[in-house]
Amino acid sequence: MSHIPRKRFGQNFLRDTAVVHRILMAIAPGLEEHLVEIGPGEGAMTQSLLPNCRRLDAVEIDRDLAEGLRRKFAADPRFRLHSADALRFDFRGLREGNEKLRVVGNLPYNISTPLMFHLFGQVEGIHDMHFMLQNEVVDRLAAEPGSADYGRLSIMAGYHCRAEKLFEVPPESFHPRPKVVSAIVRLMPHATPPVEVDPQVLGKVVATAFSQRRKTLRNSVKTLFEEREIEAMGIDPNARAETLGLEDYARMAQRWVEKSR
Ligand code: SAM
Repeated sequence: MSHIPRKRFGQNFLRDTAVVHRILMAIAPGLEEHLVEIGPGEGAMTQSLLPNCRRLDAVEIDRDLAEGLRRKFAADPRFRLHSADALRFDFRGLREGNEKLRVVGNLPYNISTPLMFHLFGQVEGIHDMHFMLQNEVVDRLAAEPGSADYGRLSIMAGYHCRAEKLFEVPPESFHPRPKVVSAIVRLMPHATPPVEVDPQVLGKVVATAFSQRRKTLRNSVKTLFEEREIEAMGIDPNARAETLGLEDYARMAQRWVEKSR
């Protein structure tokens, strides 16, 4: 396939077969499993995943690449191509019976955060996810309270999944070379979320608190709560958003629901 990489689709193709192999080992697909690959590109990962699963659904937005993939894997009945935008794709619709999907992809970095949120909304049909992302985004997904990387993405990821950084991948492994270091993350959706709260409200409270990250909560969430209400929830109004854990945010979200009734 000779394809000129398109920047607008975040195209950096994996060329390092040792990295492809390492990712395959990390995913360890089972012959009975149903994989979904987001952004298969020229098929670097598809090629090694396909012989090791029962079915592989690939979602690719670039029509030229989609056409090439269709031709390349036409003979394999396990392969199904969806020429579509992953940001609007209904992944749940791919499930057969009660099975859970294993989602993988070397993702386009320009849409990685909205794509994470789109997938978080569908995790009940997903067994696990393995993604190549910008290293910095992986650090944000796996960050703990108090660290500089901790923010909205860490909290919402923590509500839906357990995130684990597996290994870093250098720019030389791709063509063209990205400007940043990449990393592989494993996301395991929780069987039940660790806190009982409406994720929409949780997202609203977290977004408000982090909209003024450097300010104390007294100021950053003042549109939602008075200082005495923050104290009554057992939270220090002098603390900053980045020091609170998921349980603290869940308490605030619950309180907001009660207040809005
Ligand atoms: N998986 C390939 C590899 O490892 O060489 C390609 C990875 S490249 C970083 C990202 C891929 O995602 C490209 O093939 C690009 O066309 C595709 N892509 C970009 N935006 C997309 C979207 N919204 N939905 C589906 N695929 C998308």
